[in-house]
Amino acid sequence: MLLAEGQKVELERDYNVKPVPFSKVTVRDNFWTPRLETSRNVTIPYAFTMCEETGRIRNFEKAAGLQQGNHEGIHFDDSDVYKIMEGAAYSLQVNPEKMMRLYLDKLVTVMKAAQWEDGYLFTFYSLPERQPEKRWTNIQWNHEQYCMGHMYEAAVAHYQVTGDDTFLNIARKNADLICETFAPGRRTDPPGHQEIEIGLCKLYRATGDKKYLSQAKFFLDQRGRKGNRGPNGDGGLYGTYGQDHIPVTEQTTAVGHSVRAAYLYTGMADVAALTGNMEYIKAIDAIWKDVVDTKLYVTGGIGAAGGHEGFGGQYELPNMTAYCETCASIANILWNHRMFLMHNDAKYIDVLERVLYNAALSGISMEGDRFFYPNVLESIGQHSRSPWFGCACCPSNVARFVPSVPGYAYAHKDSDVYVNLFISGQTSIETAKNKVKLSQQTEYPWNGKVTIGVEPEKSEVFAIYIRIPGWARNQCVPSDLYGFQTAVDEQSSLKVNDKQISPRIEKGFARLERQWQMGDTIELDLPMPVRRIIAHQNIKTDRGKVALQRGPVMFCLEWPDNKDGVLNLVIPDNAKLTTEYRADLLGGVMVIAGKAQVAKRTNDGNIVSAGEKPFTAIPYYAWAHRGQGQMTVWPAREPEAARPEPADTLTYRSKTTASFVHVSLDAIKDQILPDNSSDSSAMQLDFWPHKGTNEWLQFDWDQEHKISSVKVYWFDDTGRGECHLPKTWRALYRDTKGNFKPVNNKNSYDTDKDTFNKVDFEPVKTNSIKIEIILQEDCSAGIQEVVIE
Ligand SMILES: [Zn+2]
Repeated sequence: MLLAEGQKVELERDYNVKPVPFSKVTVRDNFWTPRLETSRNVTIPYAFTMCEETGRIRNFEKAAGLQQGNHEGIHFDDSDVYKIMEGAAYSLQVNPEKMMRLYLDKLVTVMKAAQWEDGYLFTFYSLPERQPEKRWTNIQWNHEQYCMGHMYEAAVAHYQVTGDDTFLNIARKNADLICETFAPGRRTDPPGHQEIEIGLCKLYRATGDKKYLSQAKFFLDQRGRKGNRGPNGDGGLYGTYGQDHIPVTEQTTAVGHSVRAAYLYTGMADVAALTGNMEYIKAIDAIWKDVVDTKLYVTGGIGAAGGHEGFGGQYELPNMTAYCETCASIANILWNHRMFLMHNDAKYIDVLERVLYNAALSGISMEGDRFFYPNVLESIGQHSRSPWFGCACCPSNVARFVPSVPGYAYAHKDSDVYVNLFISGQTSIETAKNKVKLSQQTEYPWNGKVTIGVEPEKSEVFAIYIRIPGWARNQCVPSDLYGFQTAVDEQSSLKVNDKQISPRIEKGFARLERQWQMGDTIELDLPMPVRRIIAHQNIKTDRGKVALQRGPVMFCLEWPDNKDGVLNLVIPDNAKLTTEYRADLLGGVMVIAGKAQVAKRTNDGNIVSAGEKPFTAIPYYAWAHRGQGQMTVWPAREPEAARPEPADTLTYRSKTTASFVHVSLDAIKDQILPDNSSDSSAMQLDFWPHKGTNEWLQFDWDQEHKISSVKVYWFDDTGRGECHLPKTWRALYRDTKGNFKPVNNKNSYDTDKDTFNKVDFEPVKTNSIKIEIILQEDCSAGIQEVVIE
């Protein structure tokens, strides 16, 4: 069954609240218009070019028989092409450009030729020739279904925008094969990387074919199923990493790979809305609470650990090693949007807005062609945006996400309408029996004044729900994970036709119910003083620190505005903060300025405050546009929490070299002590991937010094990585003839965890100390800190 152009599918049920699609929202906004234009003019064409250069599009051409050769790149590279096509379709809807349309149609033609007779389409198993025996043999890691899910999303977008069903038919043919292959009594293992669940729901909405909805539900229900016993004897095949440890309806906490997880929760919300299944809703409600209570970064990012690209434990939110993958931010927005549509509660939009203006926007440069994969909250200069990645999930996700942003601004339910985000422009909302035109005028996010013109086609009684953001009600996030240090007395104010009103606040919305007429005007004023955020005391890395927020925007301190570093600065609670709009800076941004104390480390290891210095903070999303250097979202408010320059010790003064460097050589003399050997938050030097080798460190000085001890704090990430305590080590000194000789040690060379291993020796006069380290067989090793005295 295919639908005629423009024909609407009637579904039995869907979300209570209906989003107003981005295609119905015209944006004329000083903040968002430049971003939408950059996405259209730079990001999408650039991402297609990168797909051509890296062989991603060639793979389809070869699979279509237009060229010969092997598959290039990673097995799931097809997904990137689909995602950019989805973004291109969205951008076509707003700006019908002939060249873009032709380019898309050409790709669709190639894909049609690359599709197998039975509907299979995955270039990795199509090259150099079709390998039918190999398909579906590694769905855990090869991600056929992840790619196919993105194909469905792109195909639905293409169909809705162009009315041409060629791509949609390719997707349907493929989905029919999926439905045949994965079914009770046939294949029952769940997809390795969630996404197809969302794609199948979209396919159902576009075609009305219930089979696709049932298939999405089938995939959800295979996850964690007892019959799929994995190698570890747990419920499913992929364990917590793939949210496959227990059935999804029994899950209550966010675990594992965070993009997989948030796509899963999004898919569960969709299937719940389309089927009325309450079990899914119960589960995602609990998981959402777990995330917002304990696993959300102040930027809205999720995913604390790089090892599994996923959620850490409760309150485990390190800043410098934060993962916060750009894809996870986008997935978090998709999920929270669905949660709002289901529960019509503004707290989900509060989280969505926090991600949008911070962790998501930081993933793409303002020029539109440089990207972050992880979005850290602190840097000592090791981070910069990249032009592309071997695994390019993030750039291609950004390419489809940015054009969709206007689609999060409005929604409606029966006769009522919702204003969720504040973006200048217009929308026309078809409600139950009326058509309501809304036009917004605002300088958000820099100014909290929003004017909304209301033009209902028919004058009638209905409610306009205006979101009063949590931050404007002195609630930082919808939990106690972060709080504002002091409540702001100034309240937001609302006027209708110049008359002050005090409407009831329902689930975070001001409910304005009245007989609306053409020409009515709503004026909202959200006070935007700088708010200081203090984290829950269980977040260890944020103790003694403060974060600055103004409106929905998180700020950070970055080196170009604070020349002598930012990690050594302390912003006391009583420091006066001022704001200024700087049109000349970073495309026009608000900055926060004030006076900070400078923290200094003394030779005895204490940190003291030494003088005052002005500081400037910029919006977090705008960092990393001026080169590499220090940055922090969480500057210290107490000297002990600062990270001052090391004191001028003998070790610090040495010229240090090593046989091999992984992570940071400076880390071994930065005088920042870890909590234990496995603590990677303070950085370490390790020799990974070297294993079982002999390694060395050397410390040289211009002149001779009398030295009588060396102490080493070992790094050991057993359970997480491959660094273990070394087999043995020893210290040597350079004698007057220039030869290295072992020192005469008075005690043994220990390799104890979680402490300094100190060796005293008969004093030597030397200009060089060498430490030799013999690694355990098949293991690497690392060093947290070295002190030579
Ligand atoms: Zn990604």
